[in-house]
Amino acid sequence: MPRPAVAPPETTVETACPLDCPDACSLTVTLRGRRISKIDGGTANEVTRGYICAKVRHFDRRVYGEDRLQFPAIRRGAKGAGQFRRVTWDDALDHVAEKLEQARRTDGAEAILPLCYGGSNGFLTQDYADAILFRRLGASRLLRTVCAAPTGAANMGLYGKMGSVAYQDYPSARLILIWGVNPGVSGIHLMPYLKEAREQGAMIVAIDPRATTVARQADIHLAVRPGTDLVVALAIHRHLFEEGLADEAFLAEHTTGADALRERAEAWSFERAADVSGVPAERLRQVADLYARVSPALVKCGWGLERNRNGGSAAAAVLALPAVGGKFGVRGGGYSMSNSATWGIERAWLHDSEPASRAVNMNHVGRELTTPTGTPVRALFVYNCNPAVTLPDQARVLQGLAREDVFTVVFDQVLTDTALYADVVLPATTFLEHYDYSKGYGSLSLQLGRPVIEPVGESRSNTDVFMDLVRRMNLSREDDPSDDLDTMLASLAGMPDTTGDELRATWHATPPFGGRPVQFGDVFPKTADRKVHLCPEALDREAPRGLYGYQGDPGSERFPLALISPASERTISSTLGELPRPDVVVEMNPADAEARAIDDRDDVRVFNSQGEVRLRARVTALVRPGTVSMPKGIWRRHTSNGWTSNVLVPDSLTDLGGGACFNDARVNVEKV
Ligand code: SF4
Repeated sequence: MPRPAVAPPETTVETACPLDCPDACSLTVTLRGRRISKIDGGTANEVTRGYICAKVRHFDRRVYGEDRLQFPAIRRGAKGAGQFRRVTWDDALDHVAEKLEQARRTDGAEAILPLCYGGSNGFLTQDYADAILFRRLGASRLLRTVCAAPTGAANMGLYGKMGSVAYQDYPSARLILIWGVNPGVSGIHLMPYLKEAREQGAMIVAIDPRATTVARQADIHLAVRPGTDLVVALAIHRHLFEEGLADEAFLAEHTTGADALRERAEAWSFERAADVSGVPAERLRQVADLYARVSPALVKCGWGLERNRNGGSAAAAVLALPAVGGKFGVRGGGYSMSNSATWGIERAWLHDSEPASRAVNMNHVGRELTTPTGTPVRALFVYNCNPAVTLPDQARVLQGLAREDVFTVVFDQVLTDTALYADVVLPATTFLEHYDYSKGYGSLSLQLGRPVIEPVGESRSNTDVFMDLVRRMNLSREDDPSDDLDTMLASLAGMPDTTGDELRATWHATPPFGGRPVQFGDVFPKTADRKVHLCPEALDREAPRGLYGYQGDPGSERFPLALISPASERTISSTLGELPRPDVVVEMNPADAEARAIDDRDDVRVFNSQGEVRLRARVTALVRPGTVSMPKGIWRRHTSNGWTSNVLVPDSLTDLGGGACFNDARVNVEKV
């Protein structure tokens, strides 16, 4: 008689999410036998309160999905066709090592370009073993500017990246400006704290071209035209200065550059700012008055406002508000931005003795591959990112990826749109299959993550593969780490104070100031003189029109509509884009749709002189007139002609930090 089947026993493992999200949730993963059966919130990170987003709740669909890469492979068809033959790791890595060496011998080491961003976003998946390999080779360095570069430059210039207000302190604020960010889809754990703040009487102001989840719940929504946040912030500054509402005592004691900011704001009356931003002058005045009058007041500065030609100055003007308004020194007052620098963890290995090689801005990868001005790229090593869909000027990026004379390695977890162009594909582990750190840049949290399952197929961790290449290319040194666990243990030893010891003992670290620093109470600017630099010389030199100098709209009669591509609840940047999703649409305002005789659900083309995207229209008042919106992170399969919004995006750079100008795409739309 056959025995009845016995279900394998269930076990749970605690770990942490390291993906590119501010929250850094603790996770409890349930296994049935050796297979993941459930992913849920853990309790180690108090801020995330035991729940997680749907993206990671279903992350097992990526781990075991049909797009998962299981073994190394070498191209056998045309580039882009996605035809590969399976090979052993030895064969694959010997081939990669030989090609990297060949590029170095023939055109110099700078002909090798590593290309990565936050796809895995753990602390050890980039800037560790990969840095050891590429620095020792002397490869080109990559400026990781596709996101957070302008806001980072502004935060560094003004405050030296001072620690910012924690989620838990939002309920202490009486006024909260949510500027250019949608925590309803990215950073969801802020939402309950916002709700609590409202219940305790706080007013919420949302500044965003779309009526996002937060904007719909806000008391006031300023639906600004993309690229004009700068003038809105300057108009508030002008009001504060002109009406005697600026905190002159604070400015005198704790800042430099207040006069320069005052002068540059002078031109921005509410009326002029209204003309440019499309927000009525009386609305701007109302918000400025509120900001002057109500304390504690908090500005949450997001990343949406940086994605245009004025992005760096806009972030600087927004971050300067609490200094001018005198909002520091109380719980719930000040500003909130990335907390990535708060732990003081340095990547000392990046400052080793290797000479600095040339730097390539990742927003210019398309032009570097197709019309190089310096050493041509001969070997491209792509990991933790999917440039075929995420970088500006998509047509040029794809043209570059299709070049037969560029040897391309793609090291990833799934067969991405970029992997289709690879000469060699290497399968990577997910964060559920290797050791790493999870360091929140919104919630102040630092945890260790551990593997909960064996690597799927033949996948290997980043550390493992990069150190293997170091050995194969005869670049080893005595104290090199060998694998992800070894790397993690070595890096713990280099952490400040007792952080490493605590992590080793408990797997999570106690954040400084109980995770709730008060600005100008517990933490101060990390600038040399501990002052806020409201008009730092370096930023003033870098910005084409000087810091706070507004550059006009790039729209034209032919292409009048501003295209934005905000984060969605489906993907983390483009991660998870391989999974099924509802139709991708372009959202447009009823007025713009009517002017073009477009109805809801019509097939349309969104186009400009760079290209076109074909998909369905959704006619909705959620997006302001003059602006259309497509989701960030979609893959080529999601539109009917295989292009994403980035084919319409120029590769021009932001005023500060060399960032991407995604929201400077100007387009038109017509029915097809
Ligand atoms: S992506 Fe963000 S919200 Fe989702 S589990 Fe990870 S940290 Fe939490």
